[in-house]
Amino acid sequence: MIENHAAYDLHLHSYWSYDACAPVEYYFRKASELKLRAIAISEHFTMDSLPDIIATSRKYPDVRFIPAVEMTVRCSIGSLDMLCLGMPLEIPTEIEEIFEEYRQWQRDCGKAISIGMQSLGFDYTEKDRLELLKKYRPAKTIEKHGITHVQNGIQRTHFINSGYIKSPEEYGKLFEKFPRTPYPDAERILPVLKHHGALVMIAHPTNYFNKNDIKRMDALREELGFEGIECAHDLIPQELTPFYRDYCVRHKLFSSGGSDSHADHSDNPCRIATQHEFARHIGEGKWLDEIFERLKK
Ligand SMILES: [Zn+2]
Repeated sequence: MIENHAAYDLHLHSYWSYDACAPVEYYFRKASELKLRAIAISEHFTMDSLPDIIATSRKYPDVRFIPAVEMTVRCSIGSLDMLCLGMPLEIPTEIEEIFEEYRQWQRDCGKAISIGMQSLGFDYTEKDRLELLKKYRPAKTIEKHGITHVQNGIQRTHFINSGYIKSPEEYGKLFEKFPRTPYPDAERILPVLKHHGALVMIAHPTNYFNKNDIKRMDALREELGFEGIECAHDLIPQELTPFYRDYCVRHKLFSSGGSDSHADHSDNPCRIATQHEFARHIGEGKWLDEIFERLKK
């Protein structure tokens, strides 16, 4: 457990992400209370929280926010999460088209899970997914995204309660039994975001990097062209944070830290992502100065 909170939190999800339930304002309020230097609300796949972020930031002028998004993309090792900082506030058509592609991807992914479950003899319908989504996401987000896939923990509980599986352990194995919806390709998506000024980093990279496999780190850096690494995150064993930081320094990459919060734990009846706590990570303050320097360019 980390004792003190960090000076910033550059990895956050509001209920505009399919698997999160925190209101945007929660992050601004907490950031203001804790006097954080900056936050980045990095939804999955779109910047649909941006109007909320801009409106809320007027109420909290002391909180600096960095426009951001988290994109999951397909590459040679499978799919991985890339955090993009310094996104444009006016979303260019080219990027809006990508976001729309991902909104469709989320509906397709949800539908494929229902079809897959039905092929195994379980009556998991579109309507069931909608009921589950309504448990933790406000209507305006469902209106915008449609009936997407569902947060894993909530879906798992539903599968157990419906008798589709007997234990949480069986949940992962279910998904090996039917085809998954492939994510869009990194080589097509990332250059567009970069072209419009985004600083792209690889998120919580411990599994992607096989912990500390430098050959693999070099190969992924070459393939994906990321400019930074999320070196501090609760999925990263604390002894690896300095290792990733050293790698960043050696290769002139920036370093970042984030909590990956998905919920306000004082108002989280569905118990979503309880392992993450706002502003809890061991990233250093000077990393943020380096990010600000790059964002100026
Ligand atoms: Zn995330």
